[in-house]
Amino acid sequence: MAECMAARLTAQEEQIELLTREFSLLRDGLNGGPEVASILASSRELESLRSENEKLNFRLVHLRRALQEELALEGQGKGGINKGQEKKTGKEQQQPKNLVQYPYQYPNNSPQFLSLSSYKSPCYSFQLKPWPGYISERMQLYEELKTESDALLARRAADNQPITVELPDGCRVEGQAWVTTPYQLACGISQGLADNAVISRVNGDLWDLDRPLEKTCSLEILRFDNDDAQAVYWHSSAHILGEAMERFYGGCLCYGPPIENGFYYDMFLDGPQGVSSTEFDYLEALCKSVVKEKQPFERLEVSKETLLKMFKYNKFKCRILNEKVTTPTTTVYRCGPLIDLCRGPHVRHTGKIKALKIYKNSSTYWEGRSDMETLQRIYGISFPDSKMLKEWERFQEEARNRDHRKIGKEQELFFFHDLSPGSCFFLPRGAYLYNTLTDFIREEYCRRGYQEVASPNIYNSKLWETSGHWQHYSDNMFSFPVEQDIFALKPMNCPGHCLMFSHRPRSWRELPLRLADFGVLHRNELSGTLTGLTRVRRFQQDDAHIFCTMEQIESEMKGCLDFLRCVYDIFGFSFQLHLSTRPEKYLGDIAVWNQAEMQLENSLNEFGEPWKLNPGDGAFYGPKIDIKIKDAIGRYHQCATIQLDFQLPIRFNLTFVGKDGDDKVRPVIIHRAILGSVERMIAILTENYAGKWPLWLSPRQVMFVPVNPTCEEYAKRMCKQFVEAGFMADADLDSSCLLNKKIRNAQLAQYNFILVVGEKEKLTNSVNVRTRDNKVHGELSVSEVLARLALLKESRCRNAEEEF
Ligand SMILES: [Zn+2]
Ligand SMILES: [Zn+2]
Repeated sequence: MAECMAARLTAQEEQIELLTREFSLLRDGLNGGPEVASILASSRELESLRSENEKLNFRLVHLRRALQEELALEGQGKGGINKGQEKKTGKEQQQPKNLVQYPYQYPNNSPQFLSLSSYKSPCYSFQLKPWPGYISERMQLYEELKTESDALLARRAADNQPITVELPDGCRVEGQAWVTTPYQLACGISQGLADNAVISRVNGDLWDLDRPLEKTCSLEILRFDNDDAQAVYWHSSAHILGEAMERFYGGCLCYGPPIENGFYYDMFLDGPQGVSSTEFDYLEALCKSVVKEKQPFERLEVSKETLLKMFKYNKFKCRILNEKVTTPTTTVYRCGPLIDLCRGPHVRHTGKIKALKIYKNSSTYWEGRSDMETLQRIYGISFPDSKMLKEWERFQEEARNRDHRKIGKEQELFFFHDLSPGSCFFLPRGAYLYNTLTDFIREEYCRRGYQEVASPNIYNSKLWETSGHWQHYSDNMFSFPVEQDIFALKPMNCPGHCLMFSHRPRSWRELPLRLADFGVLHRNELSGTLTGLTRVRRFQQDDAHIFCTMEQIESEMKGCLDFLRCVYDIFGFSFQLHLSTRPEKYLGDIAVWNQAEMQLENSLNEFGEPWKLNPGDGAFYGPKIDIKIKDAIGRYHQCATIQLDFQLPIRFNLTFVGKDGDDKVRPVIIHRAILGSVERMIAILTENYAGKWPLWLSPRQVMFVPVNPTCEEYAKRMCKQFVEAGFMADADLDSSCLLNKKIRNAQLAQYNFILVVGEKEKLTNSVNVRTRDNKVHGELSVSEVLARLALLKESRCRNAEEEF
């Protein structure tokens, strides 16, 4: 058998090699110039070759794995897995009923099992044959333990202890300890509730719906619309994916958590092969078959010792057991053939996952550490309704169309280069955006009593030692030797501003002192984590530090909140406010914390916008207000922060002379930014407007379109006049293009206004105005148009095209 496979393997490998050679030939041809390009007349041919190659590769991987398994079996001789197989086949015959209910009870691969299985899914042929040996070994141990556990549960249930369960509406229902389950009680309330239940909450803890209640308790039934339930739902889906991955790749599962957008599962694959997106269909089909089987999630508490035995094939699970599990026992959950180390809880059975999609894969490291093993990560998303999945897919499509990297390229705003990863090159139109944003904030600074400063980019590491960055943040800083010392690029402005505050004695009369700085900051992010403008190494912030007295916190907060509302209103963002208060591990005087938190609360109440409390979520050095803005497609982004700091003034020994002459009074520092990183704000704004910039921000504001060549001179002259007046204006002088085409091009390029000039306009010194949405405003004198546009720009009007 093995020889036969090996022969097939060699044959296919040869085929692949042939294809690869052909490929490189073709590729060389492509680079070789126009004369060979004719070979590639049909790119469809190339595509089909490529997909052929992919399929071959795919089959090869599977053949290789099967061969490996086969060889391993042969190596073990008559013992080992073969023996287990025989044993289980016997069991199968004894309990045929069980087999129908749970086809995975005996996950070995005897032909008998295959034919007995109700499996009709075509994906089945893509699974590993046989399944990895550890599946049956794990299951054997599990079943022994499960029998014991069931017996224990039965003994406990026999005690017949009555319990009382309190529901959220205050109603109380009777039950029996170790017998009554949340699911049963949900059925008692309504079948609809029971059907839609994802998970329950018992005395505040999430609890499996089929897990018997142990004592008198409170009970809540949660549906998918609850955030915690959603996380359970997605985490349960990760088990389904994990099951499919084991059966498909046969590697070692690592972590499978829920994330903001669904879930992922990491797997370690021994050998060079990775995961290819061409395999998603097969994995999805496998997942669907798992869903169809409604495999129950069974919970089992097991000693750590036994678990180390159960997972001895998987060094990662053993690591988790040895390093993360501190209790003598922990739990495993089973669904179908998968038994996974997991604290749970989960949905009742795999059938609860109605719609599931695998959408992405990547490679990663064990626990994110680059010195550890490389893992394959597969991402999925799932919903209780296929309409919700459709909705999610539409949203993803929308988000892709708005991607700032895509629009940034199309509109020639910015680019990145390998020679400086994470540092953006802003092209002229991108730089216009950048400067317009900072100018906007500058203007507000003047009105709001801020003073702009400029401070150094590099500092001696002694500064960072004083600020505490050297001890906690140096991994993220670019540092280098200068003469006898180590210097570093600043990752933030605050320490420099502290030096500014302390370079001469300060009086209470100077406070609040609001120092603003657009200084360039650098943070050494790992190159693998850099993504467009949202994660960069070089950036600027609309950063400011307010040095004030304890008593001034409230009014300064009000000022900050008012400032951010003003800015976000212009952008058209709504926002959410959260007050994060003293954490368990905090530094400083509790009375100071209390006084500050009280003032923050007062300022929020007076501000009039709704806000929420995040108790214990503040930084160790002070409470803060987190602000999240909501963009046009409903995504939230954190940009602004208002953070109080009691510690930095101590570290830098900042003092001022108080009203009573005391010269050792400590100021409080408020760190605040509204745009946050200007780079990241440009990404958010690009995606929010989908490249349709409001006039004031727009890198393409006005396009002059001459009707015929005789008007070109006039168009050029007018364009110059607009540029001099501060507009981003252009003239389309391409005489090979027809008028309508020119207008269309300007509209597609998102010029807010298109000014058409013909002989008539030339004579009367006027222009014919239309917008990118093809609204025609008609003929107006040039001076009139200039004045109107200047007004709309100055007021930062959001829909200048309509208001005009
Ligand atoms: Zn789990
Ligand atoms: Zn700061």
